[in-house]
Amino acid sequence: MTTWVNVLVDCPGVDGAFTYGVPLGWAVQPGDLVQVPFGQNQVGGIVLSVVAELPEDLDPDQVRPLGEILSHRFFSLAYWQLLERVSHYYYTSLIQVLRTALPPGLLQRSQRRIKIKALPSQPLSSKPGPTAPELAQCSPQAQRLWHLLQQSPEKDYSWRYLQQHCPKSQTALQELLQKSWVESYLRPPLVNQPKWRQAVILVQERGDLTPRQQEILTYVKQKGGECWQNVLLKDCKTTLGTLKTLATKGCISLIQRQQLRLEQGIATPGDRPKPQTPDQARALDQIQALTGTATILLHGVTGSGKTEVYLQAIAPRLGQQQSVLVLVPEIGLTPQLTDRFRARFGDRILIYHSALSDGERYDTWRYLLMGEARLVIGTRSAVFLPLQNLGLIILDEEHDGGYKQDQPAPCYHARTVAQWRSQLENCPLILGSATPSLDTWHQSQAGQAIYLSLPERVHGQPLPPIEVIDMRQEFAQGNRSIFSKALQGALGQLGEKQEQGLLFIHRRGHSTFVSCRSCGYVMDCPYCSVSLTYHLEQLDQPAIAHQLPHQLRCHYCNFSQAVPPACPACGSPYLKQFGSGTQRVSAELTKHFPHLRQIRFDSDTTRKKGAHRELLHQFAQGEADVMVGTQMLTKGIDLPQVSLVGILTADGLLNLPDYRASERTFQVLTQVAGRSGRGERPGRVILQTYAPEHPVIQAVQQYQWHEFAEQELASRQPLDYPPWGQLILLRLSSLNENRVAETAKDLGEWLQNQFAQDTSLSPWQILGPAPATVGKIAQRYRWQILLKSPLRDDKTTVHLEPEFIARLRQVCPKDVRLSIDVEPQNFL
Ligand code: ADP
Ligand code: ZN
Ligand code: ZN
Repeated sequence: MTTWVNVLVDCPGVDGAFTYGVPLGWAVQPGDLVQVPFGQNQVGGIVLSVVAELPEDLDPDQVRPLGEILSHRFFSLAYWQLLERVSHYYYTSLIQVLRTALPPGLLQRSQRRIKIKALPSQPLSSKPGPTAPELAQCSPQAQRLWHLLQQSPEKDYSWRYLQQHCPKSQTALQELLQKSWVESYLRPPLVNQPKWRQAVILVQERGDLTPRQQEILTYVKQKGGECWQNVLLKDCKTTLGTLKTLATKGCISLIQRQQLRLEQGIATPGDRPKPQTPDQARALDQIQALTGTATILLHGVTGSGKTEVYLQAIAPRLGQQQSVLVLVPEIGLTPQLTDRFRARFGDRILIYHSALSDGERYDTWRYLLMGEARLVIGTRSAVFLPLQNLGLIILDEEHDGGYKQDQPAPCYHARTVAQWRSQLENCPLILGSATPSLDTWHQSQAGQAIYLSLPERVHGQPLPPIEVIDMRQEFAQGNRSIFSKALQGALGQLGEKQEQGLLFIHRRGHSTFVSCRSCGYVMDCPYCSVSLTYHLEQLDQPAIAHQLPHQLRCHYCNFSQAVPPACPACGSPYLKQFGSGTQRVSAELTKHFPHLRQIRFDSDTTRKKGAHRELLHQFAQGEADVMVGTQMLTKGIDLPQVSLVGILTADGLLNLPDYRASERTFQVLTQVAGRSGRGERPGRVILQTYAPEHPVIQAVQQYQWHEFAEQELASRQPLDYPPWGQLILLRLSSLNENRVAETAKDLGEWLQNQFAQDTSLSPWQILGPAPATVGKIAQRYRWQILLKSPLRDDKTTVHLEPEFIARLRQVCPKDVRLSIDVEPQNFL
């Protein structure tokens, strides 16, 4: 053996890669599926890398040889390169990337089978393989194995069966394999066989049909051009004979189609492409003209018909037998969206999200590996699905934070990975949003993305006017309620006018800022321009938060100060911790407006499976007048009867301890406001705030997205915040409070030294170490260090070498966990 391979062993309870020798003459590549000896067993594995030299601590005699190569290039080259890129960019081992990408037990669940090799000139029935004298030269076991295989009608048995029925089967098999008389392969399990059902497809209409026949065609047309045969027979009260007549006339075709196991949805009526608006037509022309890789930013105001553009961009790609991947931030929150896709494309859709069982995830993989063109809608991890012949990727609500994984590693951003995938598979990527992320906007400004815009709502409805209410004035005028007078007035009218309203509350998460009720002043870090936060030690016990010392801290740089007794700006004593939950709002609403029927829509009321859909459905049916909710309201609600949106306080968002606070505020407020006035009735938005003069509030009110983006980008530039620079967050945690604090300090000093010594690293700057805002989660004490670097002149990031990262990890003792988050989104 002169080369070795590192193999990821796919076996429960086994962690890590193991080294095996490559027998002379074998060609092995990363990504090959192999069989390896492991303890007493033979198990499946994936080759991670080929190495020319054995690590010094390994004795060559101890290293066992590979058992067998099961499949070359199981993953396409492009797919394997994608995994490697993720591993490199996010400083994560390939093993961890594979764990994220692959369903667990992919190999283990597959069945290993042995079959007699069919020679091209010999059909299987004509006894291929060795002649009798040739066979006689083999060992008795090999002969026995051969005869056993011959007995199978398909000349094909599972390896397990052969092992049970043939002594010393391993060596016997090696013999037959070496002579190339048999081959071994992996077959996915036969359980959950896909179901085949008879489907009816509309082919063409004709003038010479009876009214009855025409009726049936109209039905199929309404179902989007195809439907299940038994459903049609029932709905149209017709017979198979009638259908066959229509088939003979060439109007329909009757075919077998695979029915997939899908999340059950409510029945959706058929749906046809809508005539394009001029803006949609322009966007679609440009999209259809694309052949290779490209990133498109589709910027359309809320209700401008982006989803319709997706649907019409997808149809021709599916028609060309290409696969399409649609990524959404969260499936449960967007039942309307998946319903629309299903209404248009029927059962060709696979849904993929993290709540699927391992078995369902595995199923999806299997369908995709079978190579049929598919349309998949999924959340961020779906970016790793092995779609074959990928023709288009769509990433909806591209600004959404849900695309970023905080833990476990790799802390990838699905948008970034989707962009690489589009390059490697040479297909376009559409990033859609009403409020694009500044990262993507910046890319389009730099010519790296094509900017397409849908500036108006589909039926020309105006965007609802936004009234900004100064809560400081309400306070001064003696209104201590959480509802301003304007909002009270509007809520009072809802019942009378048979209209519905949404009340939006920003969910504070775990961070709290401090602001003045009289003047709106917010306590900020003097060094980092992010708001200071209460340092909560005990996340699980928010009730005792008020007993903790009133210390404010910047969790970027660790600056800290006590809460002053009075507002530094105006001297008012009403300097208070901020926030109000849905529960409190709901109670207040009941108190003031007992006649309004309400639905609470937050993480508490939607925990149950299907609860999102159920509550949205109730609301859509008019079973309530007001929906009170958090961020969830920003997504997926497209209801014409919603005429009022009330935003209780915008300030919770503005003061998130995060350099992206302004961007997020703009996004969330614009998205919530956009839920209003989608129907014929004009909408109304009431936005309450203690900072009406804040530039973000002003920009939201005027719908000045471009101005906002320019201003915000300009303000980030001097501080090298993204997209001008890169951030890497090192998160440290430990059960031992002192250990993690010491390690954070050691690591900080180590980094300081390294950056000082090596000029190639000099752009990196260290912020912290500082305790995390949430100082302790699940018994673990948390600290963090933020690394910041401007981009290089060629706009690329200053990458840290794997060797550097390895040494960095060594600074951490075993009982302190280190996670590396590249381009972090969550700083808590
Ligand atoms: P967005 O995704 O930008 O919010 P949608 O695609 O959901 O917009 O469109 C908003 C509404 O307008 C939906 O109810 C949709 O069915 C409808 N719509 C979209 N495009 C058209 C069109 N070309 N003609 C008629 N109605 C349309
Ligand atoms: Zn004040
Ligand atoms: Zn600071």
